[in-house]
Amino acid sequence: MIQIDGLFIHTVQREDFLVRGCVLHGAKRTVVWDTLTRPQDMAPVLRMCASQMPLVVYSHADWDHVGGTAVFGPDTLVMAHRSCLARFQDDVPQTLRSLRTNEPGFWDDVRLIEPNVLFDTRLDLDLGGLTLELHRLPGHTADAIVGFVPQWGLLLAGDTVELPCPCVPHEPDLVSWISGLTQWLHHPGLRRVLPSHGPSGRPEVVAQTIAYLQGLLHGRPVPMPAALPAFYSQTHLDNMQACGLKIV
Ligand SMILES: [Zn+2]
Repeated sequence: MIQIDGLFIHTVQREDFLVRGCVLHGAKRTVVWDTLTRPQDMAPVLRMCASQMPLVVYSHADWDHVGGTAVFGPDTLVMAHRSCLARFQDDVPQTLRSLRTNEPGFWDDVRLIEPNVLFDTRLDLDLGGLTLELHRLPGHTADAIVGFVPQWGLLLAGDTVELPCPCVPHEPDLVSWISGLTQWLHHPGLRRVLPSHGPSGRPEVVAQTIAYLQGLLHGRPVPMPAALPAFYSQTHLDNMQACGLKIV
């Protein structure tokens, strides 16, 4: 459990997995890291930010990270990797249409808000006494980023770190993903890790994610726990298939 003054962690439980975002309060600015699945998820965060419009950051454009932004209004400043924007003309609205077809009514309030402050490799935000460094870390998706708060030794890992296994795309660039995570694992200031799904806490979650990805890269998948939730059994099978590995 990560507890830091100035950090508020918010979560939403979907049927088979939990999604986590957070709010960082600096002396000058507040940042919302991801807006979860839909506006209703963000009600507690909106109350918290009533006195000052926050900046929003998207860890990447997957549906479970960007659906609630409309609560802050259409003029919100939203920061993301440059390639995140193109996804709002492509798979993001497509996914929303599928969600609406599968669960009529449940997604009606979602209004997609595109990112409007884009960066390529790194962007530093001065929140007042706190810095949020945004760094590109492709692998889970091409637009994936992580956030680092040096004053707290805190890595906001998005979906680049996840146990028991992250979601690996088709024909993944595992080498870049592993290399990006390895740099963070060796970062002297790293003390805590907050992924968007799965366990959070010590830097070991980064090391274990790297071990899983290396297993896929070298064709020697790490054994999965016996009692694996159905969502992660399926994710592991999908990952093996995405990497061209045989399921035995
Ligand atoms: Zn996710």
